[in-house]
Amino acid sequence: MAKRPALPPSQRASSGSRRPPSAERPLNKLLAKLPPDEYQRLRPLLGTVPLKFKQILHRQGEKIDTIYFPAGGVCSITSTMTDGRMVEVATVGNEGMVGSTAFFGEDVHPGESMVQVPDGFAQTMSVRVFRAELDRRGPFYSLAARYSQALMLLIMQSAACNRLHSVEERCARWLLMTHDRAGADRFKLTQEFLSVMLGVRRPSVSIVAKTFHKAGLIDYGHKQIAILDRKGLEATSCECYRVIQAHFARLLP
Ligand SMILES: [Zn+2]
Repeated sequence: MAKRPALPPSQRASSGSRRPPSAERPLNKLLAKLPPDEYQRLRPLLGTVPLKFKQILHRQGEKIDTIYFPAGGVCSITSTMTDGRMVEVATVGNEGMVGSTAFFGEDVHPGESMVQVPDGFAQTMSVRVFRAELDRRGPFYSLAARYSQALMLLIMQSAACNRLHSVEERCARWLLMTHDRAGADRFKLTQEFLSVMLGVRRPSVSIVAKTFHKAGLIDYGHKQIAILDRKGLEATSCECYRVIQAHFARLLP
């Protein structure tokens, strides 16, 4: 387990270069699964906000006001212990929504939601509107229910993975999941941050990064990481990457 890293100003980046999602067609894949007329009905109820590096979307233990539908980038849901140690429990990109705890009727966020890889914007919905839309029991409810179930399965698999699989396997899984959501082969990532996300000590991550680099799987430096060999990472990852992918493919085809 590692402590949360301090964030020097040099690491705070501005929002990504992607333009705001088109009002006609959402870049968020969950909203894009809505029937077009249903999305058009929802459009006036949605806002748009930029997603910035390390931006906190929800704080642990605080009330949820807003649901975020990222158009790109990667957000981390983390859990923090009373002694300050934290670990990532879920990853959300443009396949989902951040704040889905509200689906289950909960007002308070159990973890922290943070932007890990910024890439543009998120469409937003107030929790009040979110609940009213769920009450309609229409296509939006169906999508939110299936996504919430997929996210729960992701968290269940991650809990087992964190206990049973090696740091190397988990690191490969994490890189693959982040690569899928980042939509780019190169993204901002420090080893310190990766150690926090995986809940392991920094030297362990450093050894794994060197091994991956030597094997030609990744390149790293300047607080960035580049994915060079996806197939190699898939072969290195534990089964959890494929299991989670299968859950999402089944529930959100
Ligand atoms: Zn695993």
